[in-house]
Amino acid sequence: MSPPVRRLKSRPITFIFELPTDKLKEFWEGLEKGKVYASKCKKCGQLTFPPTSDCSHCRNQEMEYVDIQGEGEIETFTHIVIRPASFQNHPTYTVAVAKMNSGVKVLAWLTSAKLSNVKVGARVKLAAVQSQDGPSYGFSLVS
Ligand SMILES: [Zn+2]
Repeated sequence: MSPPVRRLKSRPITFIFELPTDKLKEFWEGLEKGKVYASKCKKCGQLTFPPTSDCSHCRNQEMEYVDIQGEGEIETFTHIVIRPASFQNHPTYTVAVAKMNSGVKVLAWLTSAKLSNVKVGARVKLAAVQSQDGPSYGFSLVS
C-alpha cells in the first residue's frame, strides 16, 4: 500500500529584492530629497529614465542628473487587478506611461485617480513620493 499523497495548496514565500544602487546612488538620494532624476549624457544629450550610468545611445560614461518632475501626457495605461506576489498587500493599482514635457517617457504608478478619468492623452504630474516601501515616484492626474 502506498503512502497518502499530500497536496500542497499554498504557502507564503518571502522575496527580498536587492537592487544594486552604487552607480545610481544620486538617483535614490534624489528621491529622498524630493527629486526625480533622469540621466542626461554629457556628450550627446540623450535623456534616459530610469537613469543609467552609461549612455545607451553613444556609450559615453559621463552622465549628469536632471530633475524631470513636472507634467506629461499619458500614452498608455493599465489597471492591475491580479497583482504579482510582491504587491499582494497593495490594493489594485494603475500604472501609466507618460511622455514628459522634457521628452523622456516614464512608467509609474498613477495614484489618487478615478479610473474613469484615466485616458490616453490625459495630463499627469510626476513627483517624488515617500511610500510605505521607501522613496519612490508617481503620477497624479492634472485637473
Ligand atoms: Zn550619449
